[in-house]
Amino acid sequence: MVARLSESVRFTSTNSVPKKVIDDAVRFHGHLGPFLILGLKAGLFANDVLGKDYFRTRTIVETESNPPCSCFVDGIQFVTGCTMGKRNVELRNGCSLSALFVKDDKRLKLSLKSSILQSLRKPSSKKSSENIAMDLSKRHVQELFDIEESPNKKER
Ligand SMILES: [Zn+2]
Repeated sequence: MVARLSESVRFTSTNSVPKKVIDDAVRFHGHLGPFLILGLKAGLFANDVLGKDYFRTRTIVETESNPPCSCFVDGIQFVTGCTMGKRNVELRNGCSLSALFVKDDKRLKLSLKSSILQSLRKPSSKKSSENIAMDLSKRHVQELFDIEESPNKKER
């Protein structure tokens, strides 16, 4: 899998998630957890690459069907403006965690690295789960996800 990313994207993706975004997302979602943060990171990265658009972007999220994994979807909805209500988020059940974003002529797929997913499977207390979440919020998006950018060929 080859990631073809421009220099500008590589630069912006090193940012940690702003504190205000985390606070507001926690208010929306109800708690601070690693998968919410991963959704924010994936969504913010997609905004950087594709440009945020509430209507023209759509995303297909693959996740296990239950929390905590599915908390990922709320992070994505919160920052990208792709929402269940507008039907531009589609959920697919699976055992991996990924988000495919499509806008105009571009597709961007972020797949959580299996090593990260494994590390999050260990049970943890609420406090340590919050600490893990905050640590993730500061990591480079490329350390967390395999990233693939490709042209969006016309769908038939
Ligand atoms: Zn959650």
